[in-house]
Amino acid sequence: MTEQNKTLIDQFGRKHDYLRISLIEKCNLRCTYCMPEHGIPLSPAKSLMTAEEIGKFAEIFVGFGVKKIRLTGGEPFLRKDFADIARLLAAFPVEISITTNGMLLDRNIVLLQDLGIKHLNFSLDTLKESRFLEMTRRTGFQKTMENFHLAIEEQFQLKINCVLMKGENDDEIIDFIRLTKDLPISVRFIEFMPFDGNKWNKSKLVSEAEILTQVEGEFGKANLISLPDEKNLTARKFKIEGFQGEFGIISSVTNPFCGTCNRIRLTANGRIKNCLFSNRETDLLKVMRADGDVEELILDSIYHKKAVRAGMDNMEKLSDPELHSQNRSMIAIGG
Ligand code: SAM
Ligand code: SF4
Repeated sequence: MTEQNKTLIDQFGRKHDYLRISLIEKCNLRCTYCMPEHGIPLSPAKSLMTAEEIGKFAEIFVGFGVKKIRLTGGEPFLRKDFADIARLLAAFPVEISITTNGMLLDRNIVLLQDLGIKHLNFSLDTLKESRFLEMTRRTGFQKTMENFHLAIEEQFQLKINCVLMKGENDDEIIDFIRLTKDLPISVRFIEFMPFDGNKWNKSKLVSEAEILTQVEGEFGKANLISLPDEKNLTARKFKIEGFQGEFGIISSVTNPFCGTCNRIRLTANGRIKNCLFSNRETDLLKVMRADGDVEELILDSIYHKKAVRAGMDNMEKLSDPELHSQNRSMIAIGG
């Protein structure tokens, strides 16, 4: 293979240099939008990638030009060998970031600081304890909030992931934006996406227009500042005049950012997924364990990525349960 074709470019010319690795399928929360109440069928332990295998995959992807690796799950800090994996990956010339519900952050903070890992996506869907219990089906609100403040004190670059669902937490939009007044954080409102078993319904979506109407009503139209788009944008970004932080809207359902997508996903059981919405996966781990040609499979998977949301290019297709019901829950894919 020549250096030139060692770049992950798909049939539409999109270059892929951002890898999300799911470390684990298990979680200490049970968020209603993410997983069914009784959990999901877990892969047998021996079919999950070991720390060493994760390191080998990282090496291959870095060879393909990956510049950024996000660790996710399930809850990545639940993995017993998290420290070994983080150390292995920190040795590569990539930016490492973690998506976490924050419950176990305090136990890992020194490790992250030692390894120079500064970027955290912290999932928080409500600022109310009783609602946290409803939305996550678990206790842990106090710990989550303590760790949220700890991350700020320790100067992590913090993005808050807040999945909005109509009638459940859309009355907290303004409270979340108020957090950005004195805190240098980025709050990202995420549209509720359909996955197998999460009872998705179009009517539960909170649109960008609805969010902005609320914001303008509260802070005034003149104070709502639209920020420039980033290169591989995933969120349209805004801030309120005079506030330290910013907020963004991730509208993967109503207004997807597929045109500039640079993301690749590797599931905890070693399958590559070329799109979050795709129910097609290629088992790389099996091939790696048999000493097969993993690189060819990766190139092929990326090349055949569809232009928009795994082919669900309109709302009708997205709303068709047949088309998204085969797609594993976010917890098993790695968000
Ligand atoms: N447990 C970690 C956490 O919650 O941050 C990492 C894994 S979680 C699957 C990654 C992200 O996916 C979280 O920010 C979560 O809010 C988001 N997510 C899960 N299910 C979703 C859905 N149906 N729609 C939109 N976002 C979802
Ligand atoms: Fe767990 Fe994260 Fe899914 Fe919530 S969103 S159940 S914290 S994996």
